[in-house]
Amino acid sequence: MIETREGYAPQSPATLAAYLGGIPRVAALLGGAPSGWNIAEVGDGNLNLVFIVKGPAGGVAVKQALPYVRLVGESWPLPLSRAHYEHMALSEQARLTGRLTPEIYHYDETLALIVMELLEPHIIMRRGMIAGIEYPKFAEDISTFMARTLYFTSDLALTADKKKAMIAAFAGNTALCKITEDLIFTDPYRVAPLNRWTSPQLDAYAAEWRDDGDLKVAVSRLKLKFLSSAEAMLHGDLHTGSIMLTPADTRVIDPEFAFMGPMGFDAGAVIANFLLNYFSQDGHEKEPGGRDGYREWVLATLQQIWVFFRAKFLALWRGDGMGDAYPAALFEDAEGQSRLEQERQAYMDRLWTDTVGFAAAKMTRRILGLAHNIDLEWIEDKDRRALCEARALILSRDMMVNPGNYASVEALAEAARRTRRNVLNY
Ligand code: ADP
Ligand code: MG
Repeated sequence: MIETREGYAPQSPATLAAYLGGIPRVAALLGGAPSGWNIAEVGDGNLNLVFIVKGPAGGVAVKQALPYVRLVGESWPLPLSRAHYEHMALSEQARLTGRLTPEIYHYDETLALIVMELLEPHIIMRRGMIAGIEYPKFAEDISTFMARTLYFTSDLALTADKKKAMIAAFAGNTALCKITEDLIFTDPYRVAPLNRWTSPQLDAYAAEWRDDGDLKVAVSRLKLKFLSSAEAMLHGDLHTGSIMLTPADTRVIDPEFAFMGPMGFDAGAVIANFLLNYFSQDGHEKEPGGRDGYREWVLATLQQIWVFFRAKFLALWRGDGMGDAYPAALFEDAEGQSRLEQERQAYMDRLWTDTVGFAAAKMTRRILGLAHNIDLEWIEDKDRRALCEARALILSRDMMVNPGNYASVEALAEAARRTRRNVLNY
């Protein structure tokens, strides 16, 4: 059933101009009269409406949830409440990270609509990486985003009552979580009507993935962790399509999948999208080796992301540690301090292992599941695309089943290089 709500109506450019004209802060930002505003619907995402509104003084972006999945239509209902969770997560991320999210100007719960800062001339990171653009600040910025949003919403920083209040606040975002549970952790490993892959080239891989007991156990362990480990507030969809940036400025958008879940899921999303882009470059270079330099930038940045994140997360923990986990009273003397520091390192090692597993799950779903990445989809030559995808699949299978083979981010980057070198046919 498509949800209806008193007072809700999907906006069009005409209704939106009148609506925004009634919000003094937004009208002042745009300047002039509503009749002179230029409004275009630009949503290229899968789920929602996004309008870009420009007036003589400035612009805003307006995002509105629809009661169904935009990409599929009314046959796939999805609750309007996702705007509530997106707004709540965006507010929390803004509080914790400052300028790493778009500023919120206005929120309308009834219309499921957020008016926010227009990011310009920012582009979606995935598109920039396909074009071979380097982003020298990205590792610094995304590691800050992850460290601060994950640390400060965890039991390491929060008292148990505050943490449980956050779990309660996000517990209703079940429909969006269910999309992840099905599309990432289940469907690629079974016959599912929505699955697709580069066919016939990868037919044998798809069959093998559905028949691999080790893999199905490994992905189910990850699914259990996703379902049960309320470690911190996750963005929930932290891929390179949820980042808008320029070489000088990074913003994270679109946290409608936010909930309290396992930290490795967010970290894994970033790592997975870097690895997928790395493997896709063979499909984008104009001559063999043309993207060698860019490929190395991708892997160097991937390594920095984890190294910086680990250092920042640990520094926050050492300097704060105000949560109810690891009570200070148990670790007061020098011996206690040293044991606690060992445990912090062990905690980050476990988080890395989770990250490798979740990254693998995210890579597989982009090749065998419903939603694909333009990094790979835009490779027109299907044989070439299949080779790039086969390399990513082979690496992701081993990451999921044997995470111990990837004890460090350096080892993971080296494995990506090795897989590209050694896998010469799909
Ligand atoms: P969905 O949830 O439907 O995937 P997104 O939040 O990802 O929607 O937004 C869809 C597209 O709209 C983005 O890919 C981007 O091109 C554009 N967009 C979203 N927010 C902004 C913004 N604040 N400024 C400029 N463009 C934006
Ligand atoms: Mg979205």
